[in-house]
Amino acid sequence: MKYNIFYNADFVASDYAFDTTRKSGELAASLRDGGEAKVVDPGLFTERAKAIIDRVHDPEYVKAVITGTPSHLAESQGFAWDPKVPTMAIAHSTGLVAAVADVLTSTNRVAGSLSSGLHHARAGRGSGFCTFNGLVVAATDALDRGAERVLVLDFDAHCGGGTRSMTAPDKVVQIDVATSAFDSWTPASADALFMAGVDNYIDTIIEALELADGAGNFDLVLYNAGMDPANSGVSSADLELREHMVAEWAAKRDQRLVYALAGGYTGGGIEMDDLVALHRLTVDAFCA
Ligand SMILES: [Zn+2]
Repeated sequence: MKYNIFYNADFVASDYAFDTTRKSGELAASLRDGGEAKVVDPGLFTERAKAIIDRVHDPEYVKAVITGTPSHLAESQGFAWDPKVPTMAIAHSTGLVAAVADVLTSTNRVAGSLSSGLHHARAGRGSGFCTFNGLVVAATDALDRGAERVLVLDFDAHCGGGTRSMTAPDKVVQIDVATSAFDSWTPASADALFMAGVDNYIDTIIEALELADGAGNFDLVLYNAGMDPANSGVSSADLELREHMVAEWAAKRDQRLVYALAGGYTGGGIEMDDLVALHRLTVDAFCA
């Protein structure tokens, strides 16, 4: 299946260089070699994304990210502020807003955004390399567009406490499979939070998808496709299987779905090329 993947150079605009601010550029470059997925500039949606960021985040925090002061707020996500940090942070939300528009206003069922640094951000501060919570921005945009119920399927290694803290559980259900307790949260309504290990990772994904299947209809699934379980020892073969399971689950339901890259880090024997190959597993699984 051919689908759109949203990315532009603003995604990597910040001077501060590390995986969350750089890997999407490497991945986009790898996609320009051809293949099924098409890289699309989400720039036209920047103002729409900014307006939603202003609604879901506290004004003092947004101002701090834009201006750089006070630094305890501007740098609360964990990296040094520079004037391009707001450009970068807004762009990651913009990619998701463009992807939501793509699947909710056309016949396209799947779209991706090469966004990362999302689910730990709170209304009033950043956390865990996440500046603005693009999942919350995307869910809010979907509800604005008439969606009644959104599922956040969060398979990043860490828990999505930021997302849960900023959304209403009756409208935004969260099913989360984590391998680290960082940012754990308390499930409400149809939510679930699973802690998985290396040995039961795929079994836990199966359980989570079965639960999601029985949780009713969703107008949109936001899939936070973190590859950082690899940093906890989950194999790339298991992560490849996970991505095929999610893509097949969504196809079987004829489910509209938008994915974000989310976490995934170099180190411990994982080089940038390996990290890009891991995130390509997500891109490629939805092309199948
Ligand atoms: Zn993570």
